[in-house]
Amino acid sequence: MKRSWIETFSESIGLIPKISDRPDWSEFVMEEPRELYKYPDPSEWDDFTELDPLAWPEKKERHYSIVPTTCFNCESACGLLAYVDKDSNQVRKFEGNPHHPGSRGRNCAKGPATINQINDTERILYPLKRVGERGEGKWERISWDQALEEISEKIARSIRKRKDGVVYHVGRPGHEGYAERVLKAWGVDGHNSHTNICSAGARTGYALWHKYDRPSPDHTNAKVILLASSHLETGHYFNPHAQRIMEGMMKGAKLIVMDPRLSNTASMADEWMPTYPGSET
Ligand code: SF4
Repeated sequence: MKRSWIETFSESIGLIPKISDRPDWSEFVMEEPRELYKYPDPSEWDDFTELDPLAWPEKKERHYSIVPTTCFNCESACGLLAYVDKDSNQVRKFEGNPHHPGSRGRNCAKGPATINQINDTERILYPLKRVGERGEGKWERISWDQALEEISEKIARSIRKRKDGVVYHVGRPGHEGYAERVLKAWGVDGHNSHTNICSAGARTGYALWHKYDRPSPDHTNAKVILLASSHLETGHYFNPHAQRIMEGMMKGAKLIVMDPRLSNTASMADEWMPTYPGSET
């Protein structure tokens, strides 16, 4: 593919690697978890043994149940393995799950960092009800039964008055729509979430162009991949796609990036198509 003058210039001053020198990656292409030998085999998941690094130099064995779970730090929902200490029943760490069909053991840093959420000293472990005035910061612990009773009673009272009085907001709607279906069954259409705002622009584009929400093309076997203002290295949603785009490139696919800035992804592309300020309209 023909290089733009700015790519040629960037290459000449060493700002981006020489596109023409792209190495032959074909021998490194890996579409299966077979080479991730450091992950315990599923036959060991019931009782996986590892030496306790904190007990060093004593060689103290720790036994874990390894439980497959899902990262919920973005909607990629990559697979994780939770290492549950058999002595304490506490989760000791999270690692990627090489048998997960989407992420295949390759997570972004937020996946294993899920352990910070579990151990967060400010994590709310039970329902709290405000006492005193709003803003006073005073709360009392209540039971789940009381919380559900009071919330459902308020929702029911509101619905009896009007159908559009309830708004339901979640951080990420990754619960497969269960709560949304419950509220719809009650005649409530008040769903809102982080995703309604964060990815609304992109998803409108998908819906209008593909008539499909967040498609997943077969990047690995593509011949040409066009990225329009999207980045392998910065978008957390991008992890499952990024690894397949890299596989596609290892198999010879051309990568074209349309972006006003020379992102890390653009610097590794075959073609970078920047726009010039003021030229898009
Ligand atoms: S991309 Fe990162 S944050 Fe998103 S689900 Fe995967 S590991 Fe979690």
